[in-house]
Amino acid sequence: MDMSRQGWGRVVVLTVAGTAVCIILAIIIDSFSFRTMSWEWGSRFSNNILIPLIIAPPFFFFLLSKLRELAIAHHNLTVVASTDGLTSCLNRVAFTTLVEAYLERTQEQPSDGALLVIDVDHFKKVNDEFGHASGDDALKLIASAIKERVRNNDLLGRIGGEEFAVFLPDVELPKTVAIAERIRKGVDGLTLVVEGTRLPLSVSIGGAAYRRTSTFEQLFKIADRWLYVAKRSGRNRVEVHATSEAADVASYPTAFYQPTVHRG
Ligand code: GH3
Ligand code: MG
Ligand code: MG
Repeated sequence: MDMSRQGWGRVVVLTVAGTAVCIILAIIIDSFSFRTMSWEWGSRFSNNILIPLIIAPPFFFFLLSKLRELAIAHHNLTVVASTDGLTSCLNRVAFTTLVEAYLERTQEQPSDGALLVIDVDHFKKVNDEFGHASGDDALKLIASAIKERVRNNDLLGRIGGEEFAVFLPDVELPKTVAIAERIRKGVDGLTLVVEGTRLPLSVSIGGAAYRRTSTFEQLFKIADRWLYVAKRSGRNRVEVHATSEAADVASYPTAFYQPTVHRG
């Protein structure tokens, strides 16, 4: 029986419980308050059981059904507010909020985890050559390829136009590298076909793996730096490292990565 706020089980059980409480209250009130009264309004059975049985179930059922509808509407609104409309991934705000909340929860205990930042390679070219709608199709294809390659409890967000992020709780560096490679290879196997023309897709991935909990800001900064390194090293590459190696990347000049200029 579905006892969640959105389930009928909860409505039925609470209706029965509410009716039972009404009957018990009626019996208690009847036996204490009216003991000294001389008049009898009806039999004890009809006052204490029959009347509550007639009035309480429809009242509770109506009230709880409305609360159930509200819970469903609230859930749907939350989903819409936290989901990216194009790819159905988490949007940037929802992704960041969830990761920050997780990192805060695990602050006290030593825990492993990683953040991957995934950027589509030469995506402007897709838009320029095939149009924005085909670019959107490519983003949907890439999002589902990533989704298929992460676990259910990992978080996937679209954090920018053609930029995704994956948060992997409870994984160590070697496993993080393997997951990132799996994602890269998965997208590398994709081809966008537009009016018979085939366009291969690829992504570059930068990642930061931590051993002791970190902040989202810190992880993102490091993963983003490594993403730039992956881009600079030729794209369609994975650069995932432990947060302790950050000093190496931090020494790169800020203008280390220059996006390619596409001429039409
Ligand atoms: P790089 O390999 O260096 O990442 O090159 P790039 O072309 O992917 O990078 P750049 O930042 O120059 O281009 C990103 C493009 O993504 C520019 C913008 O038109 C496109 N874009 C952003 N959001 C969307 C979207 O929602 N739909 C589509 N179709 N395109 C988008
Ligand atoms: Mg980008
Ligand atoms: Mg790009």
